[in-house]
Amino acid sequence: MVGLRRSAWVALVALYLSSRVLAQQPNDGEIERRVDGLLKQMTVEEKAGQLTQFTGVKPPILDQVKQGQVGSLLNVYGAEEANAAQRIAVEQSRLKIPLILGYDVIHGYRTIFPVPLASASSFDPALIEQSERVAAKEATAAGVKWVFAPMVDIARDPRWGRIVEGSGEDPYLGSIVAAARVRGFQGANIADPQSVVASTKHYVAYGAAEGGRDYNTVDISGQLLREVYLPPFYAAVQAGTGTLMSAFNDLNGVPATANHHTLTEILRDEWKFDGFVVSDYNAIKELIAHGVAGDGPEAAFKAIEAGVDMNMADGLYLSSIPQLVQSGKLPMSVLDEAVRRILRVKFRAGLFEHPYADPAREKTDILTAENLQASRRMAQESVVLLKNQNNLLPLGKSIKTLAVIGPMADDKATQLGSWAGQGQAKDAVTPLEGIRSQAAKAQIFFSEGVTLASLAPRVETSSITAAPAPSSATGAPGVSVTRGPTSIEDAVNAAKKADAVILFLGEPAGMTGEASSRATLDLPGKQQELLEAVAAVGKPLALVLESGRPLDIRWANHSDHVPAILQAWYLGTEAGNAIADILFGDVSPSARLPFSWPQFIGQIPVYYNHKSTGRPTSDDRWHTGYQYESMEPLFPFGYGLTYTSFKYSNLRVVTPNVSPVGTVRVTADVQNTGSRTGTEVVQLYVHDRVAPTSRPVRELKGFSRLTLAPGESKAVEFSVSVKDLGSYDPQMAWVVPAGTYDVWIAPNAIEGVQGTFEVGEK
Ligand code: BGC
Repeated sequence: MVGLRRSAWVALVALYLSSRVLAQQPNDGEIERRVDGLLKQMTVEEKAGQLTQFTGVKPPILDQVKQGQVGSLLNVYGAEEANAAQRIAVEQSRLKIPLILGYDVIHGYRTIFPVPLASASSFDPALIEQSERVAAKEATAAGVKWVFAPMVDIARDPRWGRIVEGSGEDPYLGSIVAAARVRGFQGANIADPQSVVASTKHYVAYGAAEGGRDYNTVDISGQLLREVYLPPFYAAVQAGTGTLMSAFNDLNGVPATANHHTLTEILRDEWKFDGFVVSDYNAIKELIAHGVAGDGPEAAFKAIEAGVDMNMADGLYLSSIPQLVQSGKLPMSVLDEAVRRILRVKFRAGLFEHPYADPAREKTDILTAENLQASRRMAQESVVLLKNQNNLLPLGKSIKTLAVIGPMADDKATQLGSWAGQGQAKDAVTPLEGIRSQAAKAQIFFSEGVTLASLAPRVETSSITAAPAPSSATGAPGVSVTRGPTSIEDAVNAAKKADAVILFLGEPAGMTGEASSRATLDLPGKQQELLEAVAAVGKPLALVLESGRPLDIRWANHSDHVPAILQAWYLGTEAGNAIADILFGDVSPSARLPFSWPQFIGQIPVYYNHKSTGRPTSDDRWHTGYQYESMEPLFPFGYGLTYTSFKYSNLRVVTPNVSPVGTVRVTADVQNTGSRTGTEVVQLYVHDRVAPTSRPVRELKGFSRLTLAPGESKAVEFSVSVKDLGSYDPQMAWVVPAGTYDVWIAPNAIEGVQGTFEVGEK
């Protein structure tokens, strides 16, 4: 007993309590029986109430909770407020059915982690899972049992502001990350008091919005839907996601929130998903604006019939369902099934046994040193080194003078990023602070150079929908620079006085995320001017970009202009420390781009897994591409440098002839040819040469992080089940064509060592 530290005791008690909670969990059969029991007692009004989710705890809403007219609340957090609302449901409503309280925990609850696009760049599912575990622990400590995450929408268009919330362009990476996030949120059991129920969103194809304009129409083929946009959702379902959220967009003429094909035929019939689907905010009412429903009752009818179980925000289920049932239009069986799915998840989540949050945990489990450390590690692994001429980075800590320049360098809110939950700017470490603490002896000259105050995102209230502003604590991050006047001249003077310059440029976090599409990828405001003026001073210069999308950095990337470039996204509470860890070499960069970085906006969409066309790129004029500009990205998918170099050689196909139900094994040697230890993300790509439908030129099918000491070499082997290399034929049947497949083991989507293997007929 003596000698066991207090933290160890707290952990033991928590483990004991959670094992007791789990021991009381009903099994599946019991759950269905208890659901049957409740369904028998419920009035139609109470059933409609169970399907209803409202925002906040204003008095009329709490009164409705008491009347059994509400099954869930969103944006209710803090153990006290959450428990108070729950008490009304559990103690004062007729059937005492607990509420499920939901909140957007997109990249952390109070300890803020890198934005999802950044953490996806780590290609480290184990660390991503741990990050979501921390988020779940913090959220549950504050009474939140359900998170509207992970967001798993594939995005091939960086004009779309919500690219920042997902894992980028690739369905394989997207699937691995989706499953890792679900596992992290939900833990081994969603009834665990430290687990939350995940809501995988936005089902489906939201990221394919035409022109990258948020909420816009999506019209894509069945093949694209199944091969690119659905896989991460399937992975999340396989990982056990408790719920999904239906998307705002129209999908091939039928809005995702009224789409029977995706919500029922694919999700329930094919995938056997038995949790529930919640609509996005007001998305049921928006069926009227989409023009597929004439009024509220018709919108409610279409959504529930298609397979949307819970109605977020607009209240149309509550107001329309009793009348729809009474008139005979909506069969009671359809209503009962939706209620059953919601009650099932509530039982599974342990809400009937343990509806309340333990208020003590709010003091012990949030923003702890351990959580901050987890965030710092995720942040370190999320930084992508794009360029490092003459090994400018890492900088020596003994550097005497350093200029730190740019509007992002000391702006706390920007570090938190696009959807920072309960994150607070005051907790964030800025890059200037991180650099100061690590280069303690250096004299630092700081200048913002330009302010971005005028670039706060427009807040518009649409006349059609009352969609909420994302409840980000960072609000309008563009307004966060509050220092006195600054100028490009100041910045140039700072650069002149220093031995080296670190320039922090990018987008205010409010320029990314929901309803934050852009028609240009330029550095906002006068940042390009600042960049050119600072570069002209001629000092060793590292550019650190903070953004939620790739920006047009052709000028900076030119070999004569900026020698070193880091993509540092929005890294969360520990951003500044993690950036300093990388800049001074305590940590070597190891992240890779989760999208193809366009050179300029006119190329979009540019993604690595494109089809070949009948006229692939060649030297003559009559091929695909542009007449005068390149169609190649500035940096390919999977790209990222380290502080060392790697050589790929000796690809061996261990199984040159495989059956369609076999496993293909491929190996190659990877050697660290530089002078520092480094981590490489070794990637496996495959291409089926002849198939019933045209195939992408390459598809990622595996990856593995590999750390090698200087000079060290390792054989990296990948084993892939051949059935995962198939494709959909024109009738949407999954086939694994016989014939020759190309295979690469590679550092990114356009390089690598190549071989082939043959898949037999059987
Ligand atoms: C967003 C969702 C979010 C919901 C609830 C919507 O506007 O599209 O991603 O979960 O609001 O805040």
